[in-house]
Amino acid sequence: MARIIIVGGGASGLMAAVRCAERDNEVIVFEREKILGKKLLITGKGRCNLTNVSDVDEIMSNIPRNPRFMYSSLNAFNAKDTMDFFNDLGVSLKTERGKRVFPKSDRSSDIVDALVNRAKILGVKFIFERVSEIIVEDHKAKGVKIGEKEYFSDAVIVATGGKSYPKTGSTGDGYRFAEMLGVSVTPITPSLVPVEIKESFVKELMGLSLRNVTLKLFKTNSIKPVFEELGEMLFTHFGVSGPLVLSSSAHMKEDTSYRYEIDLKPGLDEDKLDKRILRDFSMNTNRTIANTLTKLLPSSLIPQVLKMCGINKDKKVNLITREDRKALIKTVKAFKMSIIGKRPIDEAIITRGGINVKEIDPKTMECKKINSLYFIGEVLDVDAYTGGFNLQIAFSTANSVSLNF
Ligand SMILES: Cc1cc2nc3c(=O)[nH]c(=O)nc-3n(C[C@H](O)[C@H](O)[C@H](O)COP(=O)(O)OP(=O)(O)OC[C@H]3O[C@@H](n4cnc5c(N)ncnc54)[C@H](O)[C@@H]3O)c2cc1C
Repeated sequence: MARIIIVGGGASGLMAAVRCAERDNEVIVFEREKILGKKLLITGKGRCNLTNVSDVDEIMSNIPRNPRFMYSSLNAFNAKDTMDFFNDLGVSLKTERGKRVFPKSDRSSDIVDALVNRAKILGVKFIFERVSEIIVEDHKAKGVKIGEKEYFSDAVIVATGGKSYPKTGSTGDGYRFAEMLGVSVTPITPSLVPVEIKESFVKELMGLSLRNVTLKLFKTNSIKPVFEELGEMLFTHFGVSGPLVLSSSAHMKEDTSYRYEIDLKPGLDEDKLDKRILRDFSMNTNRTIANTLTKLLPSSLIPQVLKMCGINKDKKVNLITREDRKALIKTVKAFKMSIIGKRPIDEAIITRGGINVKEIDPKTMECKKINSLYFIGEVLDVDAYTGGFNLQIAFSTANSVSLNF
């Protein structure tokens, strides 16, 4: 029986606590917040998209950063294992669009409660303190410090999360621990984050949400999109947000400039769109173009679309030329915006970068330089797209660590 200290009572820390305690180890979890799983509670808009019913290859294809590092741990504990784990704890699950798995109750608290209750039954001890340092002697982790107080153990598991949404407790302490111990950390940047737009018209569109549009992300001078997806997005005071935008941000590199195009009518090709516009025109010959387009486009977007194609919004439909129509179709199929960049990491769903995976054994999550020191979850330089993959990373890496004891 080993004495194991886990730093962080979030998704990965709680899962590791349960898995290690199931193997009859003495487990102590240190959590700096007053409650456990603070970030888990806000996942999936409070519904917790805990995994994605995909096989290992498919999960890996949704991990843009260091997918191969995840191979062993995903094979040891895959999406089905995550679902079986929570089912066995009495949490009924359901699968929604995009193979996303949620608790049937739509309450993320059911996931947190299941983990915490199971941990308590297994005798896991929780101490609500912020760990300030990891004690290492002779290249071996020996325990943790909380100010002047020292707690000793046979192993230390760092499960401190990333640096996004710092109010949930993840302020990047794990990176500081690593740096203090000479373990390398790759640069930290935001991913799955809203995006700032150059054009000032976005402010006027604030609050407008677009459904069933295709968002395309291009490098500024390229015509081949690096991301293209159908879904939802919305305008904010600084730019754009919503599922499509967050997903697109995972494809942006820090040193590259990008632009967006929105296909506002992806269901209609240019020909069909032209016929649809002509039909609307034929029924409204004496009305203004702005009034006629209300069936096709959201009202608040119409002035901007018309401005982009150089058509006066008060122009009567019967005066609209063939060229006007062509310009209108072009703009509806490719509404253009230039990107300033991503919003700060505080607003990101996920942190890109972290503990360099070259320093970690992918089968056990043990640090190669320091024995009995482990890193799991978002603190590692591994991140995924939306869809439940990030929590699966947290659970799989947490499971791997328990296989050592
Ligand atoms: C708004 C939002 C929605 C999300 N939705 C989803 C989703 O639906 N599906 C999905 O797969 N992913 C989602 N994610 C991402 C997912 O929440 C994270 O990837 C996951 O929580 C990472 O788990 P973790 O255990 O590594 O870190 P965390 O869950 O962040 O836990 C880290 C814990 O460590 C504690 N801690 C930090 N430093 C110390 C210290 N020095 N001492 C003691 N304790 C410390 C923190 O307080 C925290 O409780 C979402 C993220 C956000 C922000």
